[in-house]
Amino acid sequence: MIDYHLHTRFSPDGRQTLDEMCRAARAAGIGQVAVTDHVDSPDPRFVGTIFTIANPQAYIESIDEARRRYPDIMIVRGLELGYTPSGWEEALRLRERIRPEFVIGSLHLAEGLDPYEARYFEGVTRQEAYRRYLIALRDAVPHMAGVCDTLGHLTYVTKFTPYEDGALDWDEEPELIDAILRAALAAGLALEINTSGYRRLGAPLPGLSIVRRFRELGGEFVTLGSDAHGAAHVGHRIRDAAQLARQAGMRYMLVVREDGPTPIPLP
Ligand SMILES: [Zn+2]
Ligand SMILES: [Zn+2]
Repeated sequence: MIDYHLHTRFSPDGRQTLDEMCRAARAAGIGQVAVTDHVDSPDPRFVGTIFTIANPQAYIESIDEARRRYPDIMIVRGLELGYTPSGWEEALRLRERIRPEFVIGSLHLAEGLDPYEARYFEGVTRQEAYRRYLIALRDAVPHMAGVCDTLGHLTYVTKFTPYEDGALDWDEEPELIDAILRAALAAGLALEINTSGYRRLGAPLPGLSIVRRFRELGGEFVTLGSDAHGAAHVGHRIRDAAQLARQAGMRYMLVVREDGPTPIPLP
């Protein structure tokens, strides 16, 4: 079993040390993990902390050290790279310094707002709130070509949704979602199935209908990650996500081998 989306205290919102993360992985029987701390692009319109790795060298060294301490766990040096139009170049410079083996391309800000905050949803309809994110994501994905391996939590806008029935299925926004999925394929990205959605929405990010559509459009590879920020969620429902991927017709997930991200059959 694997978990390819994990945060540690190198992320400002990380609540676990790398050591705690490795112990949790071992206890959960997970043999491979990707540490994917945040390198988010700055955006002048955003009010708040931009999540980034302040000390790239310390990040590299701490992962090297964890590899020595936990030889039974394969630890991938990854990143979650967050896109903004104005800050991408800066984020890519940091990416160069960290030389990651695996990169999740994510979007956390749409028009300078993070749907993590309640005010993202204030004064707009559900449709407007969701569309604003999907449009920004559609425009972001082409920039991830060659620098990211997988498209992170496509339906991130629903993760902290104020709506009772907040999950976003393909048929609610088929054209925009198709545009995103096609852009991901053109950019050579896999599709992440992020299990953090199970915790609030009862379904991963994205859910079955969107993963199935990705397959219909020719998508072959998924990545699986819990997006755990604390040890309690390491490996959370990864098995269910693998099953959902198979149900959607997917057969392969990406894992990191010597030559880089490589497809292997889903568990
Ligand atoms: Zn994220
Ligand atoms: Zn994350």
